[in-house]
Amino acid sequence: MKKLFVISGSSGVGKGTVIKRFLEKNPNFKLSISCTTRTKRPGEEHGINYFYLTREEFMKSVEKGDFLEWAEFSGNCYGTSKKFVEQGLKNNENILLEIDTQGALQVKEKMDNAILIFIMPPSFEELEKRLRGRGTETEDSIQKRLNTVKKEMENAKHFHYTVVNDDVERAVEEIENIIKNEQV
Ligand code: 5GP
Repeated sequence: MKKLFVISGSSGVGKGTVIKRFLEKNPNFKLSISCTTRTKRPGEEHGINYFYLTREEFMKSVEKGDFLEWAEFSGNCYGTSKKFVEQGLKNNENILLEIDTQGALQVKEKMDNAILIFIMPPSFEELEKRLRGRGTETEDSIQKRLNTVKKEMENAKHFHYTVVNDDVERAVEEIENIIKNEQV
């Protein structure tokens, strides 16, 4: 069966940049667009970055069983469309999920063909520096994020692979190699 690749990583680890670069180099991969209850950030678009739902709409979808997995992260809900993944795998497409570690572990439970890749910061200190370097968050919010990071790193031991994002190009190559080896 076609493998389903799931990428997670702590916030501030540069996961978005790594995935963007991976998709540029591997246009045959399709990134699943999740549903979320969080508000749109400037520059984001409905149907491109996420499908933005109200909490009520989201919970209705949960009840209907529309999500392969869903989780609450930082006070908002995020979920992966079951239909998108099932359809994609049926059509023999290369599907990539970019979700948090709680969601990734749910996918691992449900799908035997799921391969979980965790993107690590070079060090916890480096990550703290990056989060502070953004200069946009309060100390309280930084502490909350750092606690989340610790929890996520705990979950990382259940992943099949970890990739250190010390350099974007190198990290992307490592992911490409993992995928190549898993697809044979
Ligand atoms: P952001 O709000 O910064 O876009 O995303 C916050 C977190 O939610 C990130 O760790 C991201 O990977 C995760 N996320 C995005 N979509 C999903 C999803 O469908 N399911 C789960 N479990 N997490 C998601």
